[in-house]
Amino acid sequence: MIKELQLRVSLKEEEIPNILLIKSAKNLDLPKDQISGIKVLRKSIDARKPKIILNYKVAVYINEPVPETSEYTFDYEDVSKGKPIHIIGFGPAGMYAALRCIELGFKPIVLERGKNVQDRRRDLKAINQDHFVNEDSNYCFGEGGAGTYSDGKLYTRSLKRGDVRRIFENLVFHGATDQILVDAHPHIGTNKLPKVVTNIRETILKYGGEIHFETRVTDFKIKNNKIQAINLLNGEELPANRVILATGHSARDIFYLLHNKKIALEAKSFAMGVRVEHPQHIIDSIQYHCSGDRDELLPPASYSLVQQVNNRGVYSFCMCPGGFIVPAATDNGEVVVNGMSPSRRNNLFANSGIVVELNVEKDFYKYEHFGVLKGLEYQKDLERLAFTAGGRTQTAPAQRLTDFVEGKLSADLNPTSYQPGLNSAPLHSLLPKLIGGNLRQGFKAFGDKMKGYYTSEANIIGVESRTSSPVSIPRNEKLEHPEIEGLFPCGEGGGYAGGIVSAAMDGERCAEAACK
Ligand code: FAD
Repeated sequence: MIKELQLRVSLKEEEIPNILLIKSAKNLDLPKDQISGIKVLRKSIDARKPKIILNYKVAVYINEPVPETSEYTFDYEDVSKGKPIHIIGFGPAGMYAALRCIELGFKPIVLERGKNVQDRRRDLKAINQDHFVNEDSNYCFGEGGAGTYSDGKLYTRSLKRGDVRRIFENLVFHGATDQILVDAHPHIGTNKLPKVVTNIRETILKYGGEIHFETRVTDFKIKNNKIQAINLLNGEELPANRVILATGHSARDIFYLLHNKKIALEAKSFAMGVRVEHPQHIIDSIQYHCSGDRDELLPPASYSLVQQVNNRGVYSFCMCPGGFIVPAATDNGEVVVNGMSPSRRNNLFANSGIVVELNVEKDFYKYEHFGVLKGLEYQKDLERLAFTAGGRTQTAPAQRLTDFVEGKLSADLNPTSYQPGLNSAPLHSLLPKLIGGNLRQGFKAFGDKMKGYYTSEANIIGVESRTSSPVSIPRNEKLEHPEIEGLFPCGEGGGYAGGIVSAAMDGERCAEAACK
């Protein structure tokens, strides 16, 4: 017999060996020796009150063994002779499209502009140390896409859009910790992601797929509204009749290409702002109600904040406890920041994007002449502004949080995890009012919600501009572009995902459509 239970465990109790067994036996009024095993289904922390509680959902196996099995098996078979499906981009969407093609008996041929995970590291070093951005290999482009050197948080709101559990189990199959199957806020960590991505690559190659790195797609050949071929930067032309376009939201050249070819695109609402960085101990003391160090059984604390300001949302985005801020630009001449953390989240800083909702219908009126690309051009201008204000390198413009809100230039800045360095800049007057003004009010309100959050010990750093795509690529019920047979817009660049898991799920969906 199997019984599911919800158990509440205090931090003191958590240190008692076999506490889940003891609590389960008591709860079920059973002798302990009748319980053959306990499987944790979910674990979360309730830190709303000073007495912190760990909530466990468990399956208790009574007089029967705990099964080892997963809900899914991944039976890949050789597809080297299968019909080809071309996949452009090897981010989470492209990777999971390729894996799904193999499961369906089709041969994925992946074209990726960036380098493999190992070689990509050198280019990340060059951004951080030499302030040089390789436009094909950076934090957004290369094997695993923006998901490889990301934070690896696996939260998703798109529970209805696909099978999250299947993606999680596949990540575990490819080397991620099985803790992600249990945690309420699963996280892999930037140090562990490259191995998972490498294992996915090896599966694809082992079963007959192809992956071509350093292969940038520059054009498509379209005849009678059907895709015929893909053109590469090296001059090659590859015949192709089913193409999954999974190039992510930073591939501006793809948006320009489609626009210039008069292929329908749509402008999309998105959000932009800054990244805020606090010492981790401040966030811990607020969230865990402690004055010194947090209890060692607790992970570095996170937060999630949202406030309506002047009828628009100002909210935290991609919060990284114990993490780093990284330069996520894809070209020289722009500064873009994002965040990541290692699996142990043991860095001294907590960072988070704090962004303002922008409405495509009314906020880009000065950019209307760019048509569907108006949001993209607005985003580009903000990134150029950050580049200039930072000192025309990857050094980012920054301000103490309280100075930003009070409208004062910071005489000096707090220590930071951002490797290229910070330059004190009057972001309060440089950012468009729409963003800066709403952020200033938002931060004040966040200080009321989390006492101690609004502090001069925090920096704000500009700009957090790549939260989601400023453009979407339409598709019909068959997931094909309505004007181009054989072109399947996919993942975050198409506007169909926001994060690793939703991009992976969309990749699977597009593969199913393309393989039909
Ligand atoms: P991408 O990952 O952007 O992949 C697109 C791929 O297409 C890239 O590899 C690119 O090189 C390739 N490409 C582009 N143009 C071309 C071309 N012309 N020819 C060939 N190839 C091309 N999400 C989370 O869910 N959790 C997190 O914790 C998280 N942290 C992040 C931290 C950082 C620093 C960054 C940058 C992102 C983070 N994200 C996080 C976002 C997440 O990485 C993206 O949502 C996700 O990667 C989108 O997947 P995708 O496959 O749609 O696109």
